[in-house]
Amino acid sequence: MPKLELQGVIKRFGDRTVCDGIDLTVDEGQMVCLIGASGSGKSTLLRCINLLEPIEDGAIFLDGEDISIPGLNPQSVRARIGIVFQSFNLFPHMNALENVMLAPRRVRGLTRAELQPEVEALFARFGLADRMHNYPDQLSGGQQQRVAIVRALAMQPEVMLFDEITSALDPQLVGEVLDVLLMLKKQGMTMVMATHEMGFAREAADKICFLDSGRILEGGPPETVFGNPKHQTTQAFLARAL
Ligand code: ADP
Ligand code: MG
Repeated sequence: MPKLELQGVIKRFGDRTVCDGIDLTVDEGQMVCLIGASGSGKSTLLRCINLLEPIEDGAIFLDGEDISIPGLNPQSVRARIGIVFQSFNLFPHMNALENVMLAPRRVRGLTRAELQPEVEALFARFGLADRMHNYPDQLSGGQQQRVAIVRALAMQPEVMLFDEITSALDPQLVGEVLDVLLMLKKQGMTMVMATHEMGFAREAADKICFLDSGRILEGGPPETVFGNPKHQTTQAFLARAL
């Protein structure tokens, strides 16, 4: 059974169809990269998976369970599927540790003392042990984004979604954030990410999906999509992007 499965997902904004029948399977421990031009629907698709957007048709399964049925508590799904955005969205008035502990304290119902050892271990694992007491404006963009990833991981998600998490970073800070993704992959995390980092996608992804106007025009292993793209639109996109 796939860890995550999308069947015919349709998302509209008004009369505009932004996800136009998306089929996607993600096996446990896989990293799937969504690539495609701006406006092709990558962010919307990730938001649908996390139930931040209701879908018009189709279904989304997590461990075989339909999480897209109306009436399901989205909070319970979001505790299992973490998401990190391009803009780190850390609370400026809280230090890194407080930022990370806020949601798990509420959602997992743990006290600060119960949670702290686990969270400190996460900070240490991602090279942030000496940054826990810093406020966001005392951290570099790369550090802030790593704190945002730690914050999502503190919920102990089964799947992680990343929406262009390196796009707002200075080029010299991109590597440290991509390294975190490689660590997560090594640890067996199931991940779906939208990215413009084609070199990384080619190296690290198990599967590439090229989105065009809300459809997966072409999907498969990186060797195939990058090495031998079938569609002219994919070829043109890659020629511009690489
Ligand atoms: P990408 O992440 O690939 O750049 P998006 O998912 O952000 O693409 O956007 C896909 C399309 O959906 C775009 O045309 C965008 O303008 C539109 N869109 C995204 N969010 C909304 C919204 N909340 N309301 C209306 N249109 C939206
Ligand atoms: Mg986007």
